[in-house]
Amino acid sequence: MAAQLIDGKAIAREVRAEVKREVAEWVAEGHEAPGLATVLVGDDPASALYVGNKQKASAEVGIQGFDHRLPQDAGHDEVEGILRDLAADPRVSGILLQLPTPPQVDGAGLAAQIPPGKDVDGLTPLSAGLLAQGRRGLRPCTPSGIMELLRRHDVPIQGAEAVVVGRSDLVGRPVSALLLAANATVTVCHSKTRDLGEVCRRADILVAAVGRPGLVKGDWIKPGATVIDVGINRVEKPGGGTRLVGDVAFDEAQGVAGLITPVPGGVGPMTIACLLQNTLTAARRQVETARSAIE
Ligand code: NAD
Repeated sequence: MAAQLIDGKAIAREVRAEVKREVAEWVAEGHEAPGLATVLVGDDPASALYVGNKQKASAEVGIQGFDHRLPQDAGHDEVEGILRDLAADPRVSGILLQLPTPPQVDGAGLAAQIPPGKDVDGLTPLSAGLLAQGRRGLRPCTPSGIMELLRRHDVPIQGAEAVVVGRSDLVGRPVSALLLAANATVTVCHSKTRDLGEVCRRADILVAAVGRPGLVKGDWIKPGATVIDVGINRVEKPGGGTRLVGDVAFDEAQGVAGLITPVPGGVGPMTIACLLQNTLTAARRQVETARSAIE
């Protein structure tokens, strides 16, 4: 029997609608709307598109936008000054510095200084440390999106064997930590893992976050397993042109898995939806922290 598809587009739409409703309730309670600040240095069209999409999605759910665009030759100190002001601005709940930055700006160094309470990407070393220790913090968006897909399909996580292929700071490591926090038994695989297929076959939940088209074969999948394909790979089509495929050999996998995410339309749409969730969470926690400082 063919696996059931996990419709990330539909679930992302649901999440956005929930955030929109919760933002409206938050504002109705008398709070300032959450605010998302984006900082883009330079004129890379792909980066401008990403930032534009994030601001557009924020506006659609009632999140205020603070869209800072600096020229290609902006200095490191100038960017640092803007980030410092945003960190101190109570209207700003979340801050994103779009990477990469031009060479004169140490983008990674500056991003690492975003305070954890406003780190809505959840990728700074401090946020990663909070996650690793299971302490409260903002979680990276794509891994949170994966957990949301599992939860909304009632996939049992506690006690399940979860195998994550890939150990990047962006996806593999944080999703492993989230699965562990949800009481799965987690195995993390990488480019040096011996007999990857054998390890994958143990998985009740298999997450592939590698960036290699079709790496995970159908016979690596335990019958009935849940397969989450994070990979986004552009490949040539036989008749010319290109198309997007994941890290899982989808046609083979679909005959074995119980649940599977398609590419595109699986994990992809969840990332921005979870960024919006994080921005609302950050706003709530900032008000909570300010209140407990007064009491
Ligand atoms: P990365 O290149 O930073 O990390 C890849 C990981 O895969 C590494 O840990 C490496 O050890 C492992 N790996 C490489 N070759 C392997 C092999 N042959 N066998 C086993 N493991 C191997 O990549 P990333 O940033 O984690 O992204 C992974 C994929 O997910 C990419 O296709 C990327 O485009 C996609 N992605 C999608 C989203 C989204 O859907 N929103 C977000 C982030 C990344």
